[in-house]
Amino acid sequence: MNHDVIVLGAGLAGLAAARDLAAGGADVLVVEARDRVGGRVEQTALPDGRLVQLGGEVVGSAHTAYTALVAELGLSLVPSYVAEPGALARATPEGVSAGDPPHWFGPGDDASHRKITAAFAALAATVDPDDPWSHPQATALDRLSVAGWLRDEGASPAVVRLWEIGQLALADGSYERTSLLAALRKHAAVPGVGHYEYEAWEGLRVAEGSATVALRMAAGLDGRIRTGAPVEALVVRRSGDCSVRLAGGETLTAAAVVSALPAGPLRSLAVTGVGEELLTSLHHQRHALAAKFVAAYDRPFWRDRGLSGLSECEGVLGSTWPQNEGVLSALIPPERYGVLLGTPAHLRTRELLAEIARLYGDQAHRPRAAHLRLWGTDPWTQGYVTQWAPGDVMAVGPRHGTHEPPFYVCGSDQWVAGYMEGAVRTGRGAAKEALRRG
Ligand SMILES: Cc1cc2nc3c(=O)[nH]c(=O)nc-3n(C[C@H](O)[C@H](O)[C@H](O)COP(=O)(O)OP(=O)(O)OC[C@H]3O[C@@H](n4cnc5c(N)ncnc54)[C@H](O)[C@@H]3O)c2cc1C
Repeated sequence: MNHDVIVLGAGLAGLAAARDLAAGGADVLVVEARDRVGGRVEQTALPDGRLVQLGGEVVGSAHTAYTALVAELGLSLVPSYVAEPGALARATPEGVSAGDPPHWFGPGDDASHRKITAAFAALAATVDPDDPWSHPQATALDRLSVAGWLRDEGASPAVVRLWEIGQLALADGSYERTSLLAALRKHAAVPGVGHYEYEAWEGLRVAEGSATVALRMAAGLDGRIRTGAPVEALVVRRSGDCSVRLAGGETLTAAAVVSALPAGPLRSLAVTGVGEELLTSLHHQRHALAAKFVAAYDRPFWRDRGLSGLSECEGVLGSTWPQNEGVLSALIPPERYGVLLGTPAHLRTRELLAEIARLYGDQAHRPRAAHLRLWGTDPWTQGYVTQWAPGDVMAVGPRHGTHEPPFYVCGSDQWVAGYMEGAVRTGRGAAKEALRRG
């Protein structure tokens, strides 16, 4: 059967694109490799009914495409962990501390931190998030790592360490290997006084569960989604006679194709008929490999110590935060992902709980349930969020997030910084462009 549009991937981007295409009157089919929809948003329920998010979880007030979609779907946003009372904890090999300043700060470090944060915000204000390539020093800023820039600007080693522990808490790859231009672009997209404003990026969550956003979109696309259907090859023809080959050999045809695949799985596809420049740009994109760990307890016992549950750590864990009453989320950043994989599988949960116990006390050893989700080595994700190594912004180039009709591209990798906002924003953008072109 010939469709108007085939959408590859039923994550937030693919579902948002398909939803708008269907609403615009297109005959759309979504093909999804997994036997479930949602991609990097996934949830499971505890025996007591509490939902546990194993993937994407929080958004911020600046994430307008996502928050608008949530409202359209009749779902509700509530404050996230950012509103939790209590102090942030930091754990390093030499100690654990609560609140600011961090325990490794000495005289002058606080002033250095404030000065460098202001310099970063001022430099970010010179970058156009939609067109970072037009910056007069784009190549030089892209070649430099954030950590290299911090040192060049005279930041003290203690301040570089604070920026690094914060970056690894987000699991987005070390600042030693992150393009300064990419970091400035991310800041320019969501400006703030601090260098990562928690309220603007992470202050909200969907009360019904973030994966419910995907499930609700899928329910509205009943009969238009094929799960368990990995795409292997794609032929794009300007005449509109495009074909999509699934594993097993079945071929589907459509007038247009929307790719909503993450960077890694997209690289594994045999693609013909798409220009060399766009393909080179897409194939240069990369991901930070990360894992998420969730431990569900009866109650948020960290509050007994005056702590919020938010932490930044230099163990195998990069961070923890409370995702729901008594449920603690944690991330393992790319720099420590190999260490986790090298840990015998039957010891992983025990050792991660021991790190949480170092922060919050012995009750951490006894969760009701624990889940470890290895996204970095999941074949249908091959990562976690987009990572921009030094040189990547220029190498990916201005074709980033663009289309080549009848081939349209969306997915969180096609926005400045990944995230659920990027998925929804680019998914809806691709649908709008495809509908505009008829
Ligand atoms: C642990 C974790 C925590 C996160 N936390 C947050 C957060 O708190 N806030 C936030 O905003 N973002 C967060 N993110 C990022 C966010 O979840 C993602 O950026 C977003 O969900 C990606 O949506 P997407 O549709 O672009 O891609 P995906 O969700 O990855 O969807 C792509 C789909 O394509 C499918 N697919 C892959 N290959 C094929 C193939 N060959 N054929 C057919 N289908 C294929 C996949 O199975 C998948 O369903 C997190 C991500 C992870 C992993």
